[in-house]
Amino acid sequence: MKTLIKNGRLVDPSQHLDAIKDVLVEDGFVKTIADHIDEPADEVYDATGLVVAPGFIDVHTHMREPGLEAKEDLVSGTMAAAAGGITRVACMPNTKPVIDTSIVVSGIRKRAAEEGYVHVEVIGAITKGEKGKELTEMGDMAMRGAMAFSDDGHYVEDPQIMLRAARYVGAFDKALICHDIEEGMSHAGYMHEGVVSARLGIPGIPSIAEDMAVARDAIIAEYTGTHIHIAHVASKGAVEIIRQAKKRGVPITCEAAVHHLTLTDEMCASYSTASRVSPPLRSWDHVEALREGLKDGTIDAIVTDHAPHAPEEKDVEFRYAPNGFCGLETSVAVVLTELYHKNVLTLPQVVEKMSTRPAELFGLAAGTLKPGSHADITILDLDKEWTVDSRKFYTRGKVTPFEGKHCKGKAAATMIDGQFVMKDGVVCKK
Ligand SMILES: [Zn+2]
Repeated sequence: MKTLIKNGRLVDPSQHLDAIKDVLVEDGFVKTIADHIDEPADEVYDATGLVVAPGFIDVHTHMREPGLEAKEDLVSGTMAAAAGGITRVACMPNTKPVIDTSIVVSGIRKRAAEEGYVHVEVIGAITKGEKGKELTEMGDMAMRGAMAFSDDGHYVEDPQIMLRAARYVGAFDKALICHDIEEGMSHAGYMHEGVVSARLGIPGIPSIAEDMAVARDAIIAEYTGTHIHIAHVASKGAVEIIRQAKKRGVPITCEAAVHHLTLTDEMCASYSTASRVSPPLRSWDHVEALREGLKDGTIDAIVTDHAPHAPEEKDVEFRYAPNGFCGLETSVAVVLTELYHKNVLTLPQVVEKMSTRPAELFGLAAGTLKPGSHADITILDLDKEWTVDSRKFYTRGKVTPFEGKHCKGKAAATMIDGQFVMKDGVVCKK
């Protein structure tokens, strides 16, 4: 099976490429990249006016399997990814049961390989049941293909447990992904503590709850030499702590979520549960600091933290709503609209943050279109104008803070292992 992608603007930071090229894909792999390829192919995709990039990777999603299929499952979640132009997702372990044994890791990988529309990486839990008390068998899970380890949704409160976890995974060269918010300082709050929370009379969560947790884990990364990746960095203090640690050569990396890069706590003024998320949406000074961090390389990757909930779970009062919302079908578009078109990031930077770096961070065989690599490809239409309408989403979690947003830019097609799984927003059978 040969597919020839003609005339696209190929943007691939792994090869320092940004030029109009043809890409020939054969039997699931990138075969040739050249100015003009005239070889006969089974399918010719005209990418004139479009951008061809290595498949986008989202290292922070919640696919909700096993056990929480009313919110999402591997089929609906990976369809949403394909629709959004994401070729690979990593799923967090806060499921029911928690992904804390090698059997569950294997089970998800098997089901994802059979039923999923995109590639799925599995993140195992650091502690049993994500309870923060007892380490899981991370070595066994790593042998079964776990990408990394995280108690996402919870801060590993006990520093001794965290230190032992870092020493344990350092021995087999895996990373810990940390949801860093001091729980004692945040459990009574519902939004970012600041001018807006004071005005609304809603108990706030101080941003230092994040800074303190990140500082501790930067110290543990430095002491152990283990790669620690900070999930969804949202505070300016955390950005600065990570920047300074990186300067000292500490093996620390981090990601920022699309909503933290584009929205502020003013959204909570509507009491919409679509603004409830952890860490909370913060004030504009934090958003600006995150953007600076993206530009100077402090922040390595952009993620969604796609966290769908069943509609009735979000259809409650602000205080009682669970944290999180869906993101896979809006991330590319919102990044293009708010960061690329508004000159915060260049296009190669967008591809780097959403494909090249995420692959490098976790040693994934992805994030590049070098000949011989797997043909996972995201094709972008930078100028496509459209309005977010969650009724058209593939995800089960329809709540999004971007509902009704007018976007410029969208994924035009998604290819997995040489086969298109989405064209023009419509997910096709694999
Ligand atoms: Zn989290």
